Amino acid sequence: MIQPVAIIGAGPFGLSTAAHLRARGIPVRVFGDPMVSWRDHMPEGMLLKSTPAASNLDAPQRGHNLVDYCDAAGIPRLVTDEDIVPVETFIAYGRWFQEKLVPELEQVRVVSVDRRPGGGFELKLDSGETFAARAVVVATGLSGLAHLPPELAAAAVDGATPTGPFSHSSQHHDLTRFSGKELMVIGAGQSALETAALAAEAGARVRVVSRGHGRVAFGAPPWNQPRLRPESPFGRAWSLWALTYYPHPYRFLPEQTRHYLVRRVLGPLGAWWLKDRFDGKVEVCEVAGVVGASASDGSPALTVRTHAGSTEELTADHVIAATGYRVDIAAMDFLGHELRTRLAVSRGAPRLGAGYVSSVPGLYFTGLPAAASYGPVMRFVCGTEFASPRLVKHLAAAHA
Ligand SMILES: Cc1cc2nc3c(=O)[nH]c(=O)nc-3n(C[C@H](O)[C@H](O)[C@H](O)COP(=O)(O)OP(=O)(O)OC[C@H]3O[C@@H](n4cnc5c(N)ncnc54)[C@H](O)[C@@H]3O)c2cc1C
Repeated sequence: MIQPVAIIGAGPFGLSTAAHLRARGIPVRVFGDPMVSWRDHMPEGMLLKSTPAASNLDAPQRGHNLVDYCDAAGIPRLVTDEDIVPVETFIAYGRWFQEKLVPELEQVRVVSVDRRPGGGFELKLDSGETFAARAVVVATGLSGLAHLPPELAAAAVDGATPTGPFSHSSQHHDLTRFSGKELMVIGAGQSALETAALAAEAGARVRVVSRGHGRVAFGAPPWNQPRLRPESPFGRAWSLWALTYYPHPYRFLPEQTRHYLVRRVLGPLGAWWLKDRFDGKVEVCEVAGVVGASASDGSPALTVRTHAGSTEELTADHVIAATGYRVDIAAMDFLGHELRTRLAVSRGAPRLGAGYVSSVPGLYFTGLPAAASYGPVMRFVCGTEFASPRLVKHLAAAHA
């Protein structure tokens, strides 16, 4: 019997990769909770920052874009850059895509992946089943990679939790729990600004604590984009156009440049439509840095260094760190020890070659863990358009 390819992950990248493998007739087993990052780890009522055109899960067959889902569901079409995609619509689109193109999805966790002596991999599932796969695609996205600044991690003695003094933005779905409370949100990216706006709309008094000067900013609306620059799913700019459509040479850039661009390009900037919901409703506190945190009697306090050079203490009922995600192979504990030590990494992220293959033949990474090799577009759903066909082409040729 031909050993299947195993895909770990049922978010946009795992589902898109699976659709491409199935279309080539390659046996595949796909594991994960479909669209769970969007369903459980993002706030209810969130709107996508990406435009409809940048919110498609890539498939080899026509008819599986967001707009096709809108038609099938009988809801108004989301097409133009001014149409805003509610997270609930996007989750339903992902489920529809999965039911049509990846119907055999197995909603179980992969507990371990190890190399087999004769080649290929051995996977263990939390159902207790063990099986052999000829190749493995890791598409675990944001899972387990939430980043908490060290000051907060040290102060959160019982760990970060929505009911304790400190939490990470990924731990929140229902922000109405903060109604009538004082909330501090650390960060200046879309996640921080939208979490703050949604909590304020739910009746919380919210302060955003942001490092640097003028970092809380919002993008230009679609009708105000610069002309004479090429279009990309993220706006009109040469850099965005190149990074979106030509990520091939990215992995040959110097290591420092690659990691810098992943962090900075398409980095902290609120969506154009969020500005009116934010300004005047959320207080902004710009600081030089957060230097300490504590929680006495369960109430959190942040010690911040001001731009004038002094230190100040800020208090609230709860602090949410909207401080993003860090790729770290060490956090992917389902990868066996021997496999992890054999993997070539660059600052914690796997170093990938052509076709998204790691330094261990047959082991592929896509989505966020691939961003250090293929650029910032891998942090977004539209990255599936570049990644999925190339990964699957490589895998099909190497494991025919
Ligand atoms: C607040 C917020 C807003 C965002 N907004 C946008 C946006 O507007 N547009 C955009 O393009 N991107 C946005 N992103 C980024 C977006 O989340 C990612 O691009 C996308 O989810 C990545 O998809 P993925 O398939 O790689 O991983 P995920 O969607 O994170 O899916 C991970 C999958 O892996 C599975 N999994 C994990 N571990 C295991 C295991 N051991 N065994 C089995 N399965 C496992 C999970 O069950 C899940 O199915 C946003 C991110 C955040 C945090």
